[in-house]
Amino acid sequence: MEAKYDVVVVGSGPGGATVARELSLKGQKVLILEIGGNPKLKGTFWQYLLYQCIPGKSLLFSNGLIGVVRGLITGGSSIFYYGTCFDVPYDMLRSYGVDIEEEVNELRRELPIGPLKDEIMGAKAKLIMKSAQELNYDWKKLDKFMYQDKWNPNQKFANFYYGDPEGVKWSAKMYVEEAVQAGATLVNGAYVQRVMIDNGQATGVEFKKRGRKHKAFAPKVIVAAGGIGSPVILRKSGIKEAGYDYFFDPLISVVGYVKDVKDENEIPMSAGMHMKEEGYVMTDMALPKMLNTVFAASALKFGKMLSHKKAVRIMVKAKDTLGGRLTNGGGVRKTLIREDKDKLMKGYRRAKEILKNAGAKGIYKTQYLAAHPGGTVKIGELVDADLKTKFNNLYVCDCSVIPEAWGLPPTLTILGLGKRLAKHLLSQGQQTGNRSERIAV
Ligand SMILES: Cc1cc2nc3c(=O)[nH]c(=O)nc-3n(C[C@H](O)[C@H](O)[C@H](O)COP(=O)(O)OP(=O)(O)OC[C@H]3O[C@@H](n4cnc5c(N)ncnc54)[C@H](O)[C@@H]3O)c2cc1C
Repeated sequence: MEAKYDVVVVGSGPGGATVARELSLKGQKVLILEIGGNPKLKGTFWQYLLYQCIPGKSLLFSNGLIGVVRGLITGGSSIFYYGTCFDVPYDMLRSYGVDIEEEVNELRRELPIGPLKDEIMGAKAKLIMKSAQELNYDWKKLDKFMYQDKWNPNQKFANFYYGDPEGVKWSAKMYVEEAVQAGATLVNGAYVQRVMIDNGQATGVEFKKRGRKHKAFAPKVIVAAGGIGSPVILRKSGIKEAGYDYFFDPLISVVGYVKDVKDENEIPMSAGMHMKEEGYVMTDMALPKMLNTVFAASALKFGKMLSHKKAVRIMVKAKDTLGGRLTNGGGVRKTLIREDKDKLMKGYRRAKEILKNAGAKGIYKTQYLAAHPGGTVKIGELVDADLKTKFNNLYVCDCSVIPEAWGLPPTLTILGLGKRLAKHLLSQGQQTGNRSERIAV
C-alpha cells in the first residue's frame, strides 16, 4: 500500500478497535486490516451463520469435538457476544506488572455499562434469579454493555444474538467507526499472513485481499487478531512458541421446561454468579428459536426442538486448565481433562437444582462449546508488560495475551489493555519526539 501509516492494527475486535480508536483520536495515522467484512448489521440468523458459524473459519472444532466460535467481521466476536461486562481480576494482572485500573475506570465512564433495569430483564431470567436466591445462592444482576434507553421490547433477539441493527448493545464496531471518523483507514477482506521483520524490528505486514498479495508498512504493528488469529500470524513471523497451552472457557447449557413463563424476548446473561472456588460462572441464557432448535437437536432432544417458549436455561462456563496447541493453520487441538469436566458437572448439578426449584421439568445438558479462546501469547512469556513481543515495535493486544487460565467474560479486560497500550505507544512517541518516523513503501 502506497500510503504511509504510523500504526498498522491487525483485527478489529475489542483489542484492535480500542487501540485504533485511541490512537486515531490522538491524530495518529492508523491502518486497520480486518479479514472479515463490514456489512450493515441486519440481525438475521443468516448473517449470524455467515460471520460466526462457517466451519473451519469462524466455527472450529477441537479434537475433542468441542465447537469454538469467533466472529470474523468488523468488531470481531463482540458483534455476536452477549454484552456482559465482568470485573477485571486486577491483582492477577498486577502480578505481571500490568495495572489497568485507571483505564477500566475510564471505560466505565465512557461506555454504557450497568445492570439491566427491571423492566428490561426477562421473565425467565427473573424466575431463575428468584429460584437461585431462594436456595441462598449469591445470584445477582450482571453489568451489561448496553444502551438501555434504546431498548425496544419489539426488537426481539436480534440485539444480542444475530448482530444488533439498532445499536443497543455496545460492540467494538462502534470504536472502529469512531476511529475511521477520526481518520483511520479500514480495509476489509484483508487476510494478514505475517509481520515483516527487518533486523529485529517490525516494518509492516503482508496480507492477501481478493487473492492478491499486498504489503502495508508502518513503524508500529499491533496484532489483534484474537486468541486464535494472533498466534497463527506470530508463528509465521518468527515467534514459533505462540499458540500453546491456552484456555477456551468451555461451557454447557442446562435446560429445563416450565409451563407458565413464555417470555420470548429475553436478554441472555442478565444475572448470575461466579463460583470462584469451584472454578465456573453460571448465568441465565435465553436463546432465540432457531438456536434453541439447533441446541436441542445437538443434545439429541428432538422432541424439544420446538419448545423454545417454555425453555429455561442456565449456562455453566468453566475456567479450564491451560493446555493444547493450535495448528499452523489455526486448528484447535485441545481436549478437556477430568478436572475441567468435573467443574462443569458440579455446575450442572447446581444449575439442575436451581431449575428444579423454579419448577422446571425434563432437565438435560447440552454439548460442550467454547467462546473465549485466549492465553496463546501470554504476558510474561511472549509479550512483556507493555504487550511488546521480542521484536521491536511489534505488539499484541487481544484475548491472547491473558497470562493465566481465565473462565470469565473477558471484554472489559481486553478494552482496558487496549487503552493502556495506546497510552504507552503515545508516550513513546512523545519521548522520541518522532511521531513520523514512518517508513516509506
Ligand atoms: C457467542 C459469544 C458470546 C460472548 N459473550 C461475551 C460476553 O457477554 N461478555 C464478554 O466479555 N465476552 C463475551 N464473549 C467473548 C468476547 O466476544 C471475546 O472475548 C472478544 O471479542 C475478544 O476480543 P479480541 O479483540 O481478543 O478478538 P476478536 O473479537 O476475536 O477479534 C479479532 C479480530 O481479528 C480478525 N482477524 C482474525 N484473523 C485475522 C487475520 N489473519 N487478518 C486480519 N484480521 C483477522 C477477526 O475477524 C476479528 O475481527 C463472547 C464470545 C462469543 C463468541
